[in-house]
Amino acid sequence: MAKFNIAVVKGDGIGPEIVSGAMEVLEVIGKKYGHTFNFTEYLAGGCAIDAFGVPLPEETVAGCKAADSVLLGAVGGPKWDEVPNHLRPEKALLGLRAALGLYTNLRPAKIYPALMEACTLRPDIVAKGFDLVIVRELTGGIYFGERGRRDGKYGPEAYDTEAYSVMEIERIARTAFETARKRRCNLVSVDKANVLETSRLWREIVHKMAEEYPDVEVSDMYVDNAAMQLVREPSRFDVVLTSNMFGDILSDEASQITGSIGLLPSASLGEGKCGMYEPIHGSAPDIAGTGKANPMATILSAAMMLRYSFDLAEEADCIENAVNQVLEEGFRTADIVGNSGAVPLSCTEMTAKIIERL
Ligand code: NAD
Repeated sequence: MAKFNIAVVKGDGIGPEIVSGAMEVLEVIGKKYGHTFNFTEYLAGGCAIDAFGVPLPEETVAGCKAADSVLLGAVGGPKWDEVPNHLRPEKALLGLRAALGLYTNLRPAKIYPALMEACTLRPDIVAKGFDLVIVRELTGGIYFGERGRRDGKYGPEAYDTEAYSVMEIERIARTAFETARKRRCNLVSVDKANVLETSRLWREIVHKMAEEYPDVEVSDMYVDNAAMQLVREPSRFDVVLTSNMFGDILSDEASQITGSIGLLPSASLGEGKCGMYEPIHGSAPDIAGTGKANPMATILSAAMMLRYSFDLAEEADCIENAVNQVLEEGFRTADIVGNSGAVPLSCTEMTAKIIERL
C-alpha cells in the first residue's frame, strides 16, 4: 500500500493518446494492488512553446522535480521545425534530464516470440531469441564537451571534444553492474580503447570495479565489433554498458532489430529514485489523432517506473505479462500487424485489451 506522485508530460503528436493509455493501466494496477497514483500534468515540447513561448516552462521543471517520477510521451513535430535552435522542443528533454540529474539511460530490447516475423534479422538468428538492455551514459561525453569552429591546418574547421571523469564512469558502471546482477549477470562494456583515451580510462575503471562484482561476468568489446555482433548474434548480450554517443547509436540499432519501435520502453535514472520514463519512439506526427498509435511502449515504460523507481516488481511483472499475453493472443496495432492477417486495433482498443488481462 503506497502513494506515488507522478508528473505526467504528454507532449506532442501521439503523446497524449499513448500516455493516457499508460495512465489508465496504472489506475487499474493501483486498484488491484492497493496503491494510489496521483497524476499531475505539465506541458513540455511544442505544446509548451504554443502556450508559454518556451519548450520547458519553469512550472514543468519544478513539478517534475517535486514528483516521485515522470511519465513522458514524446515531443516535437513539423509545426515547430523552424523555431530557433534554443527553443526547439527537444530542448525540453535535455533540460528535464539535466534538472533531474538523470545520467543513466536504460533501454531494454527484446524479441517477443509472437512478433518474431517482424524482426529484420535472419530467421535462424531470431530463433535464438534475445533480451538485452543497453545502459547508456546520458549527461557526459562528446555531446556535452567543448565544441566550436576555428581556423585549422586546412582552413576553417569544426571540432567537438569527448571528456569523461572518473566519477562519471564509475557511477554509470555501477548502475550497469547492479543491473546485470538483477538479470543474467553478464556485462559487456563497449568502448573504442584502441583509439580513444576516454575509452582507455573507461576500461581501466570497469576492470577495477569488476573486482567488486565477482558474480558478474565482464568483457570488453570495441564499438565497431559491438555494432556487428548486435545483428550477428544478439542473443549473446545481457547488459551492454557504454558511453553517451556509442549508446545513442547502439540503442537505436538494438531497437530496430526487434522490428517494433512501438514496443520499446526506456528509463532515465539518476542518484535518487525519481526517474523519467518514456517510449523510445518520437511523437509520430504522421499518425497523430488517427488512433493508430501503439500504446505498448508507453505502457511498458510505466511498468519500468514501477520496477525501478517504486520497487513494485510484482506490479511491473503484471503489466509486462499482460502485454505479452495480448501479443500471444494475436492482437495487433497497425505498426505490428505485418502479415498476421489480424484486424489492427486502435490505441484505445489495445489499451483496453491489456487492461482486461491485468
Ligand atoms: P517517430 O519515432 O516519431 O516516428 C517514426 C515512425 O514510426 C513513423 O512512421 C511513426 O508513425 C512510427 N511510430 C512511432 N511511434 C509509434 C507508435 N507508438 N505506434 C505506431 N507507430 C509509431 O520518429 P520521427 O518521425 O523521426 O520524429 C517525429 C517527431 O518526433 C520529430 O519532431 C522528432 O524530433 C520527435 N522525436 C521525439 C522524441 C522524444 O520525444 N523522445 C524522440 C524521437 C523523435
